[in-house]
Amino acid sequence: MEENKKRQFLGIWFECCHTYGRLYKNKEGTAYVGRCPNCLRPVHVRIGKDGEGTNRRFFKGS
Ligand SMILES: [Zn+2]
Repeated sequence: MEENKKRQFLGIWFECCHTYGRLYKNKEGTAYVGRCPNCLRPVHVRIGKDGEGTNRRFFKGS
């Protein structure tokens, strides 16, 4: 599907504000970065060496 060519994102639950949001891959493809949509707190999730790296599709911002 064409969806795969779009910028990949990771769904995340922001515990700080109990809200759901998305993190987008950075240019280097080394991490998913974003901000809580409510308080704008920055969140950074590192991606493992094997591209996607992680099996988890859902992260909690702590
Ligand atoms: Zn927040």
